[in-house]
Amino acid sequence: MNTIDKFNSHVMQSYGRYPLVMEKGSGRRCKDENGTEYIDFGSGIGTNSLGYCDEKWADAVCTQVRTLQHSSNYYYTKVQADFAEKLCGISGYKSVFFCNSGAEANECAIKVARKYSFDKYGKGRHTIITLVNSFHGRTIATLSATGQDVFHNYFFPFVEGFVNVTANDIADLKAKLDDTVCAVMLEYVQGEGGVNVLGQEFVDAVYELCAQKDILVIADEVQTGVGRTGKFLAGEHFGKKADITTLAKGIAGGLPMGACLVNEKCSGVLTAGTHGSTFGGNPIACAGGLAVLDRVGGDGFLEEVTKKSEFIKSELGKCGEVESITGLGLMIGVKLKSKDAHDVAQKALDRGLLVLTAKEKVRLLPPLTISYDELKDGLKILIEILEE
Ligand SMILES: *Cc1c(COP(=O)(O)O)cnc(C)c1O
Repeated sequence: MNTIDKFNSHVMQSYGRYPLVMEKGSGRRCKDENGTEYIDFGSGIGTNSLGYCDEKWADAVCTQVRTLQHSSNYYYTKVQADFAEKLCGISGYKSVFFCNSGAEANECAIKVARKYSFDKYGKGRHTIITLVNSFHGRTIATLSATGQDVFHNYFFPFVEGFVNVTANDIADLKAKLDDTVCAVMLEYVQGEGGVNVLGQEFVDAVYELCAQKDILVIADEVQTGVGRTGKFLAGEHFGKKADITTLAKGIAGGLPMGACLVNEKCSGVLTAGTHGSTFGGNPIACAGGLAVLDRVGGDGFLEEVTKKSEFIKSELGKCGEVESITGLGLMIGVKLKSKDAHDVAQKALDRGLLVLTAKEKVRLLPPLTISYDELKDGLKILIEILEE
C-alpha cells in the first residue's frame, strides 16, 4: 500500500491534506518521497524557524537525545533551567510554565488569569474577553476562547466565560469590560484569522482600560513570537508587554514546545499541584529551544528578518494581482484581486513552492533564516502564478 492510502486507512482524516508525502529537508528546502524539491515559505507551519535540520540545532538536539530524553517534572533538569533563564532574559518575563503546544500554553494562561483573579477577588470574576476572528487552539477551552463561529459546532457544551469583542472596536471593548472580567486575550497579529494587525489605538485602549481595573492582558504570541515579526515579541511593535504571553510554533525549531510566560505579578499564581504536564519542558525540546534562542538572540538577526520582510513586500507590491499586503516581519498576508488563495497554494506546490493560506489570503511564514536567493526563487514562482 502506498503511504497516502496507508495513512488514510489508519490516521483519522481530520485535516484537508495536500497529496504530498514529505520525506526530508535541509536548509530552507524539503523533498517529497519522489525526490521533488520544494522551497518552504511556510516553515512547516511557522514551526521550523531555523529551516530544516539546521546543523547546530540538530547537534544540540542529538546530544540531548543521547544524554537524557525525559525525566519526570518531579525532578529538576539543567537544560530546562537553562532554557527558562534564557527565555525569561530575552523576553523580559519573570517566570515560565512549559508545555507542548500553543493550545496548552493558552490553557495555562487562562488558568493563571482565572486563579489570579480568584485569589485576589474571589468567585465570579472569571470572564475572558477574546477578539472576533481570533484563533487560540483546538482544545475545548481554547476553542471556546476562539472568536470564530465556524469552530463552535459539534462539540457542545463549550466552556463558559468567554466573551468576544470586535477587533479595533474600542466602544465594544468598553461595553463588555464588566465586573466579571479577569483578562483580555489578544493576538497582535491575528494569524489564522487572516494576518490582521491590530491598530495601535485599540491596543492602547486595551492596556489602559485593563490597568484601571486590574484586568490582566494575555498576548497569544504562539504564531507571532520568537522573532517571527522582526522583534522577539510582537508586543514590542506596540510598545506593550502583556501580563502573560504564550509561545509555541517556532520556539523550539520544530519540536513540540509551548511556553506560558508571566510577569512578576502573576509569577506566584500557580502553586504546587495546580497545573502540570507530563512532557512539558521535555529536555530534548528545551535543547532545541536553546539553539533557537541562541540564533534569534544573536547580533543583527532580527534586523535581517525585518529587511527580508521589506524585500518580500516590495517585490509582491509590484504584482498587479495583489490587492493588499498585511502583517509584520516574516508573517505576511497577501490579499488577491481575483485569484483564489487555495488555488494559488496548489499551483505553487505543483511548481516547487510551499505557501500557506489564512482565510481568503495567501499566508507566508518563511523560515527566519531564509536567504535572499531562496526568497527570490520562491517569489518568482509565486508572482508567475499570480500574473498568469
Ligand atoms: C497555532 C496557534 C495556536 C494553537 O497552537 P497548537 O500548537 O496547534 O495547539 C494558538 N494560537 C495561535 C495564535 C496560533 O497561531
